[in-house]
Amino acid sequence: MSRHLLSEGSVIVVATKNSGKVKEFAYALEKLGKGVQSLHDYPAIPDIPETGTTFAENARIKAKATGDALGVLALADDSGLRVEALGGAPGVYSARYAGEGASDADNNAKLVAELKALGCEAEDRMEALSGMGMPVDGSKPLSRAQFVCALALYDPETGTFVEAEGTVDGVITDQPHGDGGFGYDPLFWVPALGRGMAELSKEEKGAISHRGEALKALLAKLED
Ligand code: IMP
Repeated sequence: MSRHLLSEGSVIVVATKNSGKVKEFAYALEKLGKGVQSLHDYPAIPDIPETGTTFAENARIKAKATGDALGVLALADDSGLRVEALGGAPGVYSARYAGEGASDADNNAKLVAELKALGCEAEDRMEALSGMGMPVDGSKPLSRAQFVCALALYDPETGTFVEAEGTVDGVITDQPHGDGGFGYDPLFWVPALGRGMAELSKEEKGAISHRGEALKALLAKLED
Protein backbone atom coordinates (compact mmCIF):
# COMPACT_ATOMS: atom_id res chain seq x y z
CA MET A 1 0.00 0.00 0.00
CA SER A 2 2.65 2.54 1.03
CA ARG A 3 4.78 2.08 -2.06
CA HIS A 4 1.75 2.53 -4.37
CA LEU A 5 0.71 5.84 -2.89
CA LEU A 6 4.14 7.27 -2.39
CA SER A 7 5.49 6.28 -5.82
CA GLU A 8 5.94 9.31 -8.09
CA GLY A 9 3.37 9.64 -10.89
CA SER A 10 0.87 7.17 -9.43
CA VAL A 11 -2.80 8.10 -9.79
CA ILE A 12 -5.13 8.20 -6.84
CA VAL A 13 -8.91 8.39 -7.02
CA VAL A 14 -10.48 10.65 -4.44
CA ALA A 15 -13.91 9.20 -3.61
CA THR A 16 -15.94 12.41 -3.81
CA LYS A 17 -17.92 14.63 -6.15
CA ASN A 18 -17.49 17.64 -3.85
CA SER A 19 -15.56 20.14 -6.01
CA GLY A 20 -14.19 21.97 -2.97
CA LYS A 21 -12.64 18.78 -1.61
CA VAL A 22 -11.34 17.75 -5.06
CA LYS A 23 -9.53 21.09 -5.45
CA GLU A 24 -7.90 20.80 -2.02
CA PHE A 25 -6.76 17.21 -2.56
CA ALA A 26 -5.51 17.98 -6.09
CA TYR A 27 -3.50 20.93 -4.76
CA ALA A 28 -1.94 18.86 -1.94
CA LEU A 29 -1.31 15.60 -3.81
CA GLU A 30 -0.17 17.02 -7.17
CA LYS A 31 2.60 18.84 -5.27
CA LEU A 32 3.77 15.33 -4.26
CA GLY A 33 3.82 14.24 -7.92
CA LYS A 34 0.53 12.31 -7.82
CA GLY A 35 -2.15 12.29 -10.49
CA VAL A 36 -5.54 12.97 -8.89
CA GLN A 37 -8.90 11.80 -10.20
CA SER A 38 -12.30 12.01 -8.53
CA LEU A 39 -15.77 10.54 -8.96
CA HIS A 40 -16.38 13.33 -11.53
CA ASP A 41 -14.13 11.19 -13.79
CA TYR A 42 -16.33 8.11 -13.20
CA PRO A 43 -19.94 9.25 -13.61
CA ALA A 44 -21.15 5.64 -13.95
CA ILE A 45 -20.41 4.98 -10.26
CA PRO A 46 -23.70 5.54 -8.43
CA ASP A 47 -23.88 7.85 -5.39
CA ILE A 48 -22.51 6.06 -2.33
CA PRO A 49 -24.95 6.19 0.61
CA GLU A 50 -23.26 7.58 3.76
CA THR A 51 -24.91 5.26 6.25
CA GLY A 52 -22.25 5.46 8.96
CA THR A 53 -22.68 7.22 12.28
CA THR A 54 -19.09 8.45 12.51
CA PHE A 55 -16.78 10.34 10.13
CA ALA A 56 -14.35 7.40 10.13
CA GLU A 57 -17.06 4.87 9.28
CA ASN A 58 -18.36 6.98 6.37
CA ALA A 59 -14.83 7.48 5.03
CA ARG A 60 -14.27 3.71 5.01
CA ILE A 61 -17.62 3.10 3.25
CA LYS A 62 -16.78 5.61 0.47
CA ALA A 63 -13.18 4.43 0.02
CA LYS A 64 -14.17 0.75 -0.16
CA ALA A 65 -17.08 1.27 -2.58
CA THR A 66 -14.87 3.32 -4.91
CA GLY A 67 -11.79 1.09 -4.65
CA ASP A 68 -13.80 -2.10 -5.23
CA ALA A 69 -15.72 -0.58 -8.18
CA LEU A 70 -12.57 0.68 -9.95
CA GLY A 71 -9.91 -1.75 -8.76
CA VAL A 72 -7.58 1.13 -7.81
CA LEU A 73 -6.36 2.77 -4.60
CA ALA A 74 -9.10 5.06 -3.35
CA LEU A 75 -8.89 7.91 -0.84
CA ALA A 76 -12.09 9.04 0.87
CA ASP A 77 -12.72 12.03 3.11
CA ASP A 78 -15.67 12.33 5.42
CA SER A 79 -15.73 15.66 7.11
CA GLY A 80 -17.96 18.17 8.77
CA LEU A 81 -18.53 20.81 11.38
CA ARG A 82 -19.10 20.26 15.11
CA VAL A 83 -20.69 23.30 16.75
CA GLU A 84 -20.41 23.50 20.52
CA ALA A 85 -23.70 25.33 21.13
CA LEU A 86 -25.49 22.68 19.03
CA GLY A 87 -24.03 19.78 21.04
CA GLY A 88 -21.74 18.77 18.17
CA ALA A 89 -24.30 19.09 15.33
CA PRO A 90 -24.41 19.10 12.36
CA GLY A 91 -21.46 16.62 12.52
CA VAL A 92 -21.78 13.80 9.98
CA TYR A 93 -24.91 15.51 8.63
CA SER A 94 -23.06 18.75 7.72
CA ALA A 95 -23.59 18.41 3.96
CA ARG A 96 -27.38 17.97 4.38
CA TYR A 97 -27.97 20.14 7.47
CA ALA A 98 -30.66 22.21 5.72
CA GLY A 99 -32.07 19.10 4.01
CA GLU A 100 -31.18 16.63 1.24
CA GLY A 101 -29.56 18.50 -1.67
CA ALA A 102 -29.06 21.67 0.41
CA SER A 103 -26.62 24.25 -0.97
CA ASP A 104 -23.75 25.70 1.06
CA ALA A 105 -25.74 28.95 1.30
CA ASP A 106 -28.79 27.06 2.67
CA ASN A 107 -26.66 25.29 5.29
CA ASN A 108 -24.91 28.51 6.35
CA ALA A 109 -28.22 30.38 6.65
CA LYS A 110 -29.69 27.59 8.78
CA LEU A 111 -26.62 27.51 11.04
CA VAL A 112 -26.77 31.23 11.81
CA ALA A 113 -30.57 31.10 12.31
CA GLU A 114 -30.34 28.15 14.73
CA LEU A 115 -27.60 29.77 16.80
CA LYS A 116 -29.50 33.06 16.98
CA ALA A 117 -32.66 31.17 17.99
CA LEU A 118 -30.67 29.63 20.86
CA GLY A 119 -29.70 33.10 22.09
CA CYS A 120 -26.06 32.82 21.08
CA GLU A 121 -25.92 36.55 20.37
CA ALA A 122 -26.20 37.30 24.10
CA GLU A 123 -23.49 39.60 25.44
CA ASP A 124 -22.16 37.16 28.06
CA ARG A 125 -21.52 34.51 25.42
CA MET A 126 -19.69 37.02 23.28
CA GLU A 127 -17.61 38.10 26.24
CA ALA A 128 -16.61 34.49 26.85
CA LEU A 129 -15.28 34.36 23.28
CA SER A 130 -13.61 37.77 23.30
CA GLY A 131 -9.85 37.89 23.64
CA MET A 132 -9.60 34.98 21.23
CA GLY A 133 -8.52 37.12 18.26
CA MET A 134 -12.07 37.75 17.07
CA PRO A 135 -12.99 39.92 14.05
CA VAL A 136 -13.17 43.66 14.75
CA ASP A 137 -15.68 44.45 11.99
CA GLY A 138 -18.84 44.37 14.10
CA SER A 139 -19.69 40.75 13.33
CA LYS A 140 -20.69 38.61 16.31
CA PRO A 141 -19.10 35.34 17.45
CA LEU A 142 -21.90 32.79 18.01
CA SER A 143 -20.24 29.55 19.15
CA ARG A 144 -17.00 27.67 19.33
CA ALA A 145 -16.76 25.03 16.61
CA GLN A 146 -14.41 22.49 15.11
CA PHE A 147 -13.97 21.11 11.61
CA VAL A 148 -13.21 17.37 11.58
CA CYS A 149 -11.86 15.27 8.71
CA ALA A 150 -11.51 11.48 8.65
CA LEU A 151 -9.50 10.00 5.80
CA ALA A 152 -9.50 6.38 4.65
CA LEU A 153 -7.16 5.04 2.00
CA TYR A 154 -8.29 1.66 0.67
CA ASP A 155 -6.36 -0.88 -1.37
CA PRO A 156 -8.75 -3.29 -3.14
CA GLU A 157 -5.90 -5.75 -3.83
CA THR A 158 -5.39 -6.44 -0.15
CA GLY A 159 -8.72 -5.22 1.28
CA THR A 160 -6.82 -3.05 3.78
CA PHE A 161 -7.26 0.54 4.99
CA VAL A 162 -4.88 3.21 6.27
CA GLU A 163 -6.78 5.84 8.25
CA ALA A 164 -6.12 9.25 9.80
CA GLU A 165 -8.05 12.14 11.33
CA GLY A 166 -7.49 15.90 11.60
CA THR A 167 -9.28 18.82 13.29
CA VAL A 168 -9.11 22.61 13.41
CA ASP A 169 -10.71 24.83 16.06
CA GLY A 170 -12.63 28.00 15.32
CA VAL A 171 -15.60 30.19 16.06
CA ILE A 172 -18.83 30.57 14.08
CA THR A 173 -19.63 34.22 13.31
CA ASP A 174 -22.97 35.73 12.28
CA GLN A 175 -21.43 37.39 9.20
CA PRO A 176 -19.28 35.84 6.46
CA HIS A 177 -15.58 36.63 6.12
CA GLY A 178 -14.05 36.05 2.68
CA ASP A 179 -15.33 34.15 -0.32
CA GLY A 180 -12.73 31.39 -0.78
CA GLY A 181 -13.01 27.73 0.22
CA PHE A 182 -16.40 26.04 0.32
CA GLY A 183 -19.11 24.83 2.69
CA TYR A 184 -19.09 26.56 6.08
CA ASP A 185 -15.73 28.30 5.49
CA PRO A 186 -17.21 31.85 5.27
CA LEU A 187 -18.69 31.53 8.79
CA PHE A 188 -15.64 29.82 10.36
CA TRP A 189 -13.28 32.26 12.04
CA VAL A 190 -9.80 30.94 12.86
CA PRO A 191 -8.70 32.74 16.06
CA ALA A 192 -5.18 31.29 15.83
CA LEU A 193 -4.69 33.26 12.58
CA GLY A 194 -7.06 36.16 13.27
CA ARG A 195 -8.72 35.49 9.88
CA GLY A 196 -11.69 33.70 8.41
CA MET A 197 -11.21 30.27 6.79
CA ALA A 198 -12.65 31.65 3.53
CA GLU A 199 -10.02 34.43 3.57
CA LEU A 200 -7.13 31.96 3.39
CA SER A 201 -5.33 30.93 0.19
CA LYS A 202 -5.39 27.23 -0.75
CA GLU A 203 -1.87 26.90 0.63
CA GLU A 204 -2.73 28.63 3.91
CA LYS A 205 -5.90 26.56 4.39
CA GLY A 206 -4.04 23.33 3.60
CA ALA A 207 -1.41 24.17 6.23
CA ILE A 208 -3.89 24.46 9.12
CA SER A 209 -7.14 22.80 8.08
CA HIS A 210 -8.69 19.55 9.33
CA ARG A 211 -8.13 18.09 5.85
CA GLY A 212 -4.51 19.25 5.74
CA GLU A 213 -3.85 17.84 9.22
CA ALA A 214 -5.47 14.50 8.33
CA LEU A 215 -3.46 14.26 5.11
CA LYS A 216 -0.20 14.98 6.95
CA ALA A 217 -1.03 12.24 9.46
CA LEU A 218 -1.94 9.78 6.68
CA LEU A 219 1.27 10.44 4.75
CA ALA A 220 3.31 10.05 7.94
CA LYS A 221 1.68 6.64 8.53
CA LEU A 222 2.50 5.57 4.98
CA GLU A 223 6.14 6.57 5.39
CA ASP A 224 6.53 4.47 8.55
P1 IMP B 1 -19.33 14.87 3.36
O1 IMP B 1 -19.29 14.86 1.87
O2 IMP B 1 -20.41 14.08 3.97
O3 IMP B 1 -17.97 14.61 3.95
O4 IMP B 1 -19.73 16.37 3.69
C1 IMP B 1 -18.86 17.28 4.21
C2 IMP B 1 -19.61 18.60 4.48
O5 IMP B 1 -19.00 19.20 5.61
C3 IMP B 1 -19.43 19.59 3.33
O6 IMP B 1 -20.50 19.54 2.42
C4 IMP B 1 -19.37 20.92 4.07
O7 IMP B 1 -20.67 21.36 4.34
C5 IMP B 1 -18.70 20.55 5.37
N1 IMP B 1 -17.23 20.70 5.26
C6 IMP B 1 -16.30 19.70 5.24
N2 IMP B 1 -15.07 20.21 5.09
C7 IMP B 1 -15.22 21.53 4.99
C8 IMP B 1 -14.30 22.60 4.79
O8 IMP B 1 -13.09 22.43 4.62
N3 IMP B 1 -14.85 23.83 4.78
C9 IMP B 1 -16.17 24.08 4.94
N4 IMP B 1 -17.08 23.13 5.07
C10 IMP B 1 -16.61 21.85 5.12
